[in-house]
Amino acid sequence: MKITSSLQYLSSHPYLRRLGSRRFFSTQKSSWPKSVRIVEVGPRDGLQNEPKILPAATKIELINRLSDTGLKTIEATSFVSPKWVPQMADNMEVLKGIAKKAGVSYPVLTPNIKGFEAALAAGATEVAVFGAASESFSQKNTNCSTAESIERFRVVLDAAKKANVRVRGYVSTVIGCPYEGAIEPQAVARVSKQLLDMGCYEISLGDTIGVGTPGTMSKMLQEVLKVIPADKLAVHCHDTYGQALANILTSLEYGISVVDSSVSGLGGCPYARGASGNAATEDVVYMLHGLGIETGVNLEKLVNVGKYICEELGRPSESKVNRAMRKTKPQ
Ligand SMILES: [Zn+2]
Repeated sequence: MKITSSLQYLSSHPYLRRLGSRRFFSTQKSSWPKSVRIVEVGPRDGLQNEPKILPAATKIELINRLSDTGLKTIEATSFVSPKWVPQMADNMEVLKGIAKKAGVSYPVLTPNIKGFEAALAAGATEVAVFGAASESFSQKNTNCSTAESIERFRVVLDAAKKANVRVRGYVSTVIGCPYEGAIEPQAVARVSKQLLDMGCYEISLGDTIGVGTPGTMSKMLQEVLKVIPADKLAVHCHDTYGQALANILTSLEYGISVVDSSVSGLGGCPYARGASGNAATEDVVYMLHGLGIETGVNLEKLVNVGKYICEELGRPSESKVNRAMRKTKPQ
Protein backbone atom coordinates (compact mmCIF):
# COMPACT_ATOMS: atom_id res chain seq x y z
CA MET A 1 0.00 0.00 0.00
CA LYS A 2 1.30 3.43 -0.89
CA ILE A 3 1.91 5.86 1.95
CA THR A 4 -0.69 8.37 0.75
CA SER A 5 -3.46 5.81 0.51
CA SER A 6 -2.58 4.33 3.90
CA LEU A 7 -2.74 7.84 5.40
CA GLN A 8 -6.08 8.37 3.73
CA TYR A 9 -7.27 5.11 5.22
CA LEU A 10 -5.96 5.98 8.66
CA SER A 11 -7.44 9.46 8.69
CA SER A 12 -10.83 8.11 7.66
CA HIS A 13 -10.88 5.68 10.56
CA PRO A 14 -13.42 6.93 13.16
CA TYR A 15 -11.15 6.12 16.16
CA LEU A 16 -8.23 8.02 14.66
CA ARG A 17 -10.48 10.90 13.74
CA ARG A 18 -11.51 11.10 17.39
CA LEU A 19 -7.87 10.88 18.42
CA GLY A 20 -7.09 13.64 15.97
CA SER A 21 -9.72 15.94 17.46
CA ARG A 22 -8.41 15.17 20.95
CA ARG A 23 -4.92 16.15 19.85
CA PHE A 24 -6.31 19.39 18.52
CA PHE A 25 -7.73 20.22 21.94
CA SER A 26 -4.55 19.26 23.76
CA THR A 27 -2.64 21.70 21.53
CA GLN A 28 -5.02 24.46 22.66
CA LYS A 29 -4.63 23.58 26.31
CA SER A 30 -0.86 23.62 26.13
CA SER A 31 -1.08 27.23 24.99
CA TRP A 32 -2.66 28.17 28.32
CA PRO A 33 -0.25 29.34 30.97
CA LYS A 34 1.27 26.65 33.23
CA SER A 35 0.79 28.83 36.26
CA VAL A 36 -1.30 31.85 37.11
CA ARG A 37 -0.56 34.53 39.69
CA ILE A 38 -3.68 35.65 41.51
CA VAL A 39 -3.88 39.20 42.77
CA GLU A 40 -6.19 39.07 45.76
CA VAL A 41 -8.11 42.35 45.89
CA GLY A 42 -10.60 41.49 48.66
CA PRO A 43 -9.10 43.59 51.47
CA ARG A 44 -9.11 46.73 49.27
CA ASP A 45 -11.44 46.58 46.25
CA GLY A 46 -13.69 44.17 48.13
CA LEU A 47 -14.00 45.81 51.55
CA GLN A 48 -14.07 49.32 50.09
CA ASN A 49 -17.38 48.48 48.42
CA GLU A 50 -18.95 46.69 51.37
CA PRO A 51 -21.49 48.72 53.33
CA LYS A 52 -20.20 47.45 56.69
CA ILE A 53 -16.96 49.04 57.88
CA LEU A 54 -14.73 46.55 59.68
CA PRO A 55 -12.23 47.41 62.42
CA ALA A 56 -8.55 47.51 61.42
CA ALA A 57 -7.83 44.42 63.53
CA THR A 58 -10.26 42.34 61.44
CA LYS A 59 -8.73 43.60 58.20
CA ILE A 60 -5.26 42.73 59.49
CA GLU A 61 -6.47 39.26 60.48
CA LEU A 62 -8.02 38.81 57.01
CA ILE A 63 -4.77 39.77 55.24
CA ASN A 64 -2.68 37.54 57.55
CA ARG A 65 -4.99 34.59 56.89
CA LEU A 66 -4.88 35.25 53.13
CA SER A 67 -1.05 35.34 53.31
CA ASP A 68 -1.19 31.84 54.76
CA THR A 69 -3.13 30.37 51.79
CA GLY A 70 -0.22 30.64 49.34
CA LEU A 71 -1.41 33.84 47.63
CA LYS A 72 1.58 35.88 46.49
CA THR A 73 -0.07 39.27 45.93
CA ILE A 74 -2.61 40.74 48.33
CA GLU A 75 -3.84 44.27 47.80
CA ALA A 76 -3.93 45.57 51.34
CA THR A 77 -5.62 48.96 51.38
CA SER A 78 -5.99 52.30 49.67
CA PHE A 79 -4.37 55.64 50.51
CA VAL A 80 -7.24 57.89 49.46
CA SER A 81 -8.99 60.63 51.36
CA PRO A 82 -11.25 59.16 54.09
CA LYS A 83 -13.76 61.77 52.97
CA TRP A 84 -14.25 59.74 49.77
CA VAL A 85 -13.60 56.23 51.03
CA PRO A 86 -14.30 55.98 54.78
CA GLN A 87 -13.80 52.18 54.64
CA MET A 88 -10.06 52.73 54.08
CA ALA A 89 -9.45 55.47 56.69
CA ASP A 90 -7.33 53.06 58.74
CA ASN A 91 -4.90 52.42 55.85
CA MET A 92 -1.77 53.33 57.84
CA GLU A 93 -2.74 51.07 60.76
CA VAL A 94 -3.59 48.15 58.45
CA LEU A 95 -0.44 48.33 56.32
CA LYS A 96 1.79 48.66 59.39
CA GLY A 97 -0.13 46.00 61.32
CA ILE A 98 -0.02 43.04 58.94
CA ALA A 99 2.56 40.29 59.41
CA LYS A 100 4.36 40.66 56.10
CA LYS A 101 5.25 37.24 54.82
CA ALA A 102 8.43 36.75 52.79
CA GLY A 103 7.66 36.35 49.10
CA VAL A 104 4.24 38.02 49.38
CA SER A 105 3.63 41.49 47.95
CA TYR A 106 1.12 43.86 49.58
CA PRO A 107 0.34 46.63 47.05
CA VAL A 108 -1.79 49.62 48.02
CA LEU A 109 -3.80 52.02 45.89
CA THR A 110 -2.35 55.55 45.70
CA PRO A 111 -4.35 57.89 43.47
CA ASN A 112 -2.13 60.94 44.10
CA ILE A 113 1.25 62.00 45.45
CA LYS A 114 -0.13 62.69 48.92
CA GLY A 115 -1.42 59.12 49.09
CA PHE A 116 1.84 57.81 47.72
CA GLU A 117 3.90 59.62 50.37
CA ALA A 118 1.66 58.32 53.15
CA ALA A 119 1.89 54.79 51.74
CA LEU A 120 5.67 55.02 51.55
CA ALA A 121 5.82 56.22 55.17
CA ALA A 122 3.72 53.20 56.16
CA GLY A 123 6.21 50.87 54.47
CA ALA A 124 4.59 50.19 51.07
CA THR A 125 6.90 48.53 48.55
CA GLU A 126 4.33 48.35 45.77
CA VAL A 127 1.51 50.72 44.81
CA ALA A 128 -1.20 50.95 42.18
CA VAL A 129 -2.67 53.82 40.17
CA PHE A 130 -6.00 53.98 38.41
CA GLY A 131 -7.09 55.21 34.96
CA ALA A 132 -10.42 54.91 33.18
CA ALA A 133 -10.89 53.88 29.55
CA SER A 134 -14.15 55.81 29.37
CA GLU A 135 -14.06 59.57 28.68
CA SER A 136 -17.42 60.16 30.41
CA PHE A 137 -16.34 58.15 33.47
CA SER A 138 -13.17 60.19 33.67
CA GLN A 139 -14.99 63.52 33.22
CA LYS A 140 -17.56 62.69 35.89
CA ASN A 141 -15.02 61.41 38.41
CA THR A 142 -11.95 63.54 37.82
CA ASN A 143 -13.25 66.45 35.75
CA CYS A 144 -10.70 65.93 33.01
CA SER A 145 -10.00 63.70 30.02
CA THR A 146 -8.59 60.18 30.41
CA ALA A 147 -5.26 61.37 29.01
CA GLU A 148 -5.10 64.30 31.45
CA SER A 149 -6.13 62.19 34.43
CA ILE A 150 -3.38 59.67 33.68
CA GLU A 151 -0.85 62.45 33.24
CA ARG A 152 -1.52 63.32 36.89
CA PHE A 153 0.01 59.99 37.89
CA ARG A 154 3.36 60.94 36.37
CA VAL A 155 4.43 62.58 39.61
CA VAL A 156 3.51 59.38 41.52
CA LEU A 157 5.44 57.22 39.04
CA ASP A 158 8.49 59.49 39.22
CA ALA A 159 8.46 59.42 43.02
CA ALA A 160 7.96 55.64 43.00
CA LYS A 161 10.93 55.16 40.71
CA LYS A 162 13.15 57.15 43.08
CA ALA A 163 11.91 55.14 46.07
CA ASN A 164 12.33 51.82 44.24
CA VAL A 165 8.60 51.10 44.55
CA ARG A 166 6.84 49.08 41.86
CA VAL A 167 3.67 50.55 40.33
CA ARG A 168 0.78 48.57 38.94
CA GLY A 169 -1.68 50.30 36.62
CA TYR A 170 -5.41 49.67 36.68
CA VAL A 171 -7.57 50.55 33.72
CA SER A 172 -11.24 50.55 34.63
CA THR A 173 -14.39 50.30 32.49
CA VAL A 174 -12.57 48.38 29.73
CA ILE A 175 -15.76 46.87 28.28
CA GLY A 176 -18.57 49.15 29.33
CA CYS A 177 -19.22 52.27 31.36
CA PRO A 178 -22.34 53.28 33.30
CA TYR A 179 -22.44 56.65 31.49
CA GLU A 180 -21.58 55.93 27.88
CA GLY A 181 -22.25 52.20 27.41
CA ALA A 182 -19.85 50.19 25.23
CA ILE A 183 -16.19 51.26 25.25
CA GLU A 184 -14.06 51.19 22.10
CA PRO A 185 -11.25 48.61 22.43
CA GLN A 186 -8.89 51.20 20.88
CA ALA A 187 -9.54 53.54 23.83
CA VAL A 188 -8.56 50.75 26.25
CA ALA A 189 -5.38 50.05 24.30
CA ARG A 190 -4.47 53.77 24.27
CA VAL A 191 -4.90 54.31 28.01
CA SER A 192 -3.17 51.01 28.88
CA LYS A 193 -0.16 51.86 26.72
CA GLN A 194 0.06 55.31 28.26
CA LEU A 195 0.24 53.80 31.77
CA LEU A 196 2.80 51.21 30.67
CA ASP A 197 4.97 53.86 29.00
CA MET A 198 4.85 55.95 32.17
CA GLY A 199 6.50 53.08 34.05
CA CYS A 200 3.78 50.71 35.32
CA TYR A 201 5.17 47.17 35.36
CA GLU A 202 1.76 45.58 34.72
CA ILE A 203 -1.65 46.72 33.49
CA SER A 204 -4.78 45.25 35.01
CA LEU A 205 -7.73 45.48 32.62
CA GLY A 206 -10.87 45.95 34.67
CA ASP A 207 -14.40 45.14 33.60
CA THR A 208 -15.51 47.31 36.49
CA ILE A 209 -19.25 46.92 35.98
CA GLY A 210 -19.07 43.28 34.86
CA VAL A 211 -20.84 43.62 31.51
CA GLY A 212 -18.22 41.77 29.43
CA THR A 213 -18.71 38.44 27.67
CA PRO A 214 -16.07 36.20 26.05
CA GLY A 215 -16.99 37.96 22.80
CA THR A 216 -16.39 41.54 23.96
CA MET A 217 -13.40 40.44 26.08
CA SER A 218 -11.77 38.90 23.00
CA LYS A 219 -12.27 42.02 20.90
CA MET A 220 -10.82 44.22 23.66
CA LEU A 221 -7.85 41.91 24.31
CA GLN A 222 -6.99 41.61 20.62
CA GLU A 223 -6.69 45.39 20.43
CA VAL A 224 -4.66 45.76 23.65
CA LEU A 225 -2.34 42.90 22.69
CA LYS A 226 -1.36 44.87 19.59
CA VAL A 227 0.47 47.34 21.84
CA ILE A 228 1.19 45.41 25.09
CA PRO A 229 2.54 41.85 25.42
CA ALA A 230 0.42 39.33 27.35
CA ASP A 231 3.03 38.98 30.11
CA LYS A 232 2.47 42.61 31.13
CA LEU A 233 -1.31 42.26 31.37
CA ALA A 234 -3.77 41.12 34.03
CA VAL A 235 -7.55 40.90 34.00
CA HIS A 236 -9.99 42.09 36.65
CA CYS A 237 -13.49 40.74 36.07
CA HIS A 238 -16.71 41.41 37.93
CA ASP A 239 -19.53 38.90 37.92
CA THR A 240 -22.58 41.14 37.47
CA TYR A 241 -23.88 39.10 34.54
CA GLY A 242 -22.34 35.78 35.63
CA GLN A 243 -19.58 36.01 32.99
CA ALA A 244 -16.49 36.50 35.16
CA LEU A 245 -15.11 32.93 34.94
CA ALA A 246 -15.84 32.70 31.22
CA ASN A 247 -14.08 36.03 30.69
CA ILE A 248 -11.07 34.91 32.73
CA LEU A 249 -10.87 31.66 30.74
CA THR A 250 -10.96 33.70 27.53
CA SER A 251 -8.06 35.82 28.80
CA LEU A 252 -6.01 32.70 29.56
CA GLU A 253 -6.47 31.66 25.95
CA TYR A 254 -4.79 34.91 24.96
CA GLY A 255 -1.81 34.04 27.17
CA ILE A 256 -2.66 36.28 30.12
CA SER A 257 -1.46 34.70 33.37
CA VAL A 258 -2.34 37.24 36.07
CA VAL A 259 -5.89 37.35 37.40
CA ASP A 260 -7.39 39.72 39.98
CA SER A 261 -10.06 38.26 42.22
CA SER A 262 -11.58 38.77 45.63
CA VAL A 263 -12.08 36.17 48.35
CA SER A 264 -15.75 35.12 48.45
CA GLY A 265 -16.48 37.73 45.76
CA LEU A 266 -16.29 40.59 48.25
CA GLY A 267 -17.20 43.97 46.88
CA GLY A 268 -20.67 43.40 45.62
CA CYS A 269 -23.39 44.47 47.95
CA PRO A 270 -26.04 41.75 47.92
CA TYR A 271 -28.67 44.33 48.85
CA ALA A 272 -27.96 46.91 46.16
CA ARG A 273 -29.33 46.34 42.72
CA GLY A 274 -26.70 45.99 40.01
CA ALA A 275 -23.74 46.07 42.39
CA SER A 276 -21.99 42.78 41.89
CA GLY A 277 -18.65 41.72 43.24
CA ASN A 278 -15.32 40.72 41.82
CA ALA A 279 -14.77 37.20 40.56
CA ALA A 280 -14.50 35.06 43.71
CA THR A 281 -10.95 33.82 44.34
CA GLU A 282 -12.22 30.39 45.44
CA ASP A 283 -14.05 29.95 42.10
CA VAL A 284 -11.06 31.14 40.08
CA VAL A 285 -8.66 28.81 41.94
CA TYR A 286 -11.04 25.85 41.55
CA MET A 287 -11.28 26.44 37.79
CA LEU A 288 -7.54 26.93 37.34
CA HIS A 289 -6.67 23.78 39.31
CA GLY A 290 -9.24 21.91 37.23
CA LEU A 291 -7.38 23.04 34.12
CA GLY A 292 -4.11 21.79 35.59
CA ILE A 293 -2.85 25.35 36.04
CA GLU A 294 -0.79 26.01 39.17
CA THR A 295 -1.69 28.86 41.49
CA GLY A 296 0.24 27.94 44.63
CA VAL A 297 -2.99 28.52 46.59
CA ASN A 298 -4.43 26.02 49.07
CA LEU A 299 -8.14 26.00 48.21
CA GLU A 300 -9.34 24.57 51.53
CA LYS A 301 -7.51 27.25 53.50
CA LEU A 302 -8.93 29.89 51.17
CA VAL A 303 -12.48 28.59 51.68
CA ASN A 304 -11.97 28.97 55.44
CA VAL A 305 -10.78 32.56 55.00
CA GLY A 306 -13.89 33.26 52.92
CA LYS A 307 -16.06 31.81 55.67
CA TYR A 308 -14.28 33.95 58.28
CA ILE A 309 -14.66 37.26 56.45
CA CYS A 310 -18.28 36.65 55.45
CA GLU A 311 -19.15 35.98 59.07
CA GLU A 312 -17.41 39.21 60.07
CA LEU A 313 -19.38 41.11 57.43
CA GLY A 314 -22.61 39.31 58.21
CA ARG A 315 -23.23 38.40 54.57
CA PRO A 316 -23.27 35.21 52.51
CA SER A 317 -20.31 34.20 50.36
CA GLU A 318 -20.66 35.05 46.67
CA SER A 319 -18.44 32.05 45.87
CA LYS A 320 -20.29 28.95 44.68
CA VAL A 321 -17.18 26.86 45.32
CA ASN A 322 -17.07 28.15 48.89
CA ARG A 323 -20.70 27.25 49.50
CA ALA A 324 -20.35 23.82 47.84
CA MET A 325 -17.18 22.91 49.73
CA ARG A 326 -18.63 23.91 53.06
CA LYS A 327 -21.72 21.82 52.39
CA THR A 328 -19.70 18.74 51.57
CA LYS A 329 -17.01 19.31 54.20
CA PRO A 330 -18.46 20.92 57.31
CA GLN A 331 -15.76 22.81 59.23
ZN1 LIG B 1 -13.03 45.11 41.21
